[in-house]
Amino acid sequence: MKLNEIYAREMPVISFEIFPPKPQTPIETVFTTLEQLTELTPAFISVTYGAGGSSAARSIEIASRVKNAYGVETVAHLTCANASRTEIDQILRELRDHHIENILALRGDPPAGEGYFSPVAEGYRYAKELIAHIKETGQFSVAAAAYPEGHLECRNLELDIYYLKEKTNQGVDLLITQLFFDNDFFYRFRERAEAKGVHCPIAAGIMPVLNVQQIKRITSLCGASIPEKLAKLMDRYGGVPSDMVKAGMEYACEQIVDLLENKVAGIHLYTMNKAEQTKQIIRQVGLVK
Ligand code: FAD
Repeated sequence: MKLNEIYAREMPVISFEIFPPKPQTPIETVFTTLEQLTELTPAFISVTYGAGGSSAARSIEIASRVKNAYGVETVAHLTCANASRTEIDQILRELRDHHIENILALRGDPPAGEGYFSPVAEGYRYAKELIAHIKETGQFSVAAAAYPEGHLECRNLELDIYYLKEKTNQGVDLLITQLFFDNDFFYRFRERAEAKGVHCPIAAGIMPVLNVQQIKRITSLCGASIPEKLAKLMDRYGGVPSDMVKAGMEYACEQIVDLLENKVAGIHLYTMNKAEQTKQIIRQVGLVK
């Protein structure tokens, strides 16, 4: 089922993100996680694509498994950094062969240490060009990324939303946000995007803080800010992993409950492949069917 049909059917839509295990880890490890996640009957599970296309084969294999073995809808992430148009066409053919109908189309990050993105020869500069190309095939529903605090390379939120509108104009069916820890960023962003004519549903990307070092690394890479309330929790509980997990899950639940009260179109949980914690969060906020 395509994303536009999923979002036309029910709101709020609950979805999860997983990532492929590292190359040296057997792919089967993620299948155990998937068995538990699919029991929660999410509307879809999205599968990330390694930086610069490094995990392409595994991403496709896992997305195919979600859809064809577990019978849950999937969204395959696809980045165009490092890929020529010919290579993207090859991936699109593979996705089609696996009956995958939904793509989260992204530009991808510059290589580590380089602050500036340069496209490869015959490649794409912005996600909107990739989206236009995918839409031309007429075969996929396309989601795109959105940044409630602005993208790291464009901290002028007004301008970032202007570019976002150009991106959605290519035929985007869903926006999924970067993680954020202060819902006010989301509400302000949603209002400003709608005012600028962005009319597709916006799913809130929520990442529970389960490990302080991991969250510090991720936020330093993606630019999401840590509000004082969360920083205090991280200081107080960071030294005891089990206490941090508990506090981080409670914080995520509070965020989700508040978003649901404020008519969020979708909750997209960055599961970090942690099925047990995902299960507990979904149960605690009353979203188990
Ligand atoms: P774009 O929409 O192209 O934007 C990139 C930058 O260009 C922004 O600063 C924007 O303001 C600017 N811009 C856009 N148009 C113009 C223009 N016309 N002129 C000037 N500037 C412009 N990365 C991965 O490698 N794999 C993944 O699986 C993955 N999944 C993600 C999932 C989500 C939900 C999110 C939010 C991000 C994900 N990312 C992933 C990270 C993403 O690749 C990076 O954030 C990347 O830096 C930007 O991708 P984009 O598609 O948002 O780019």
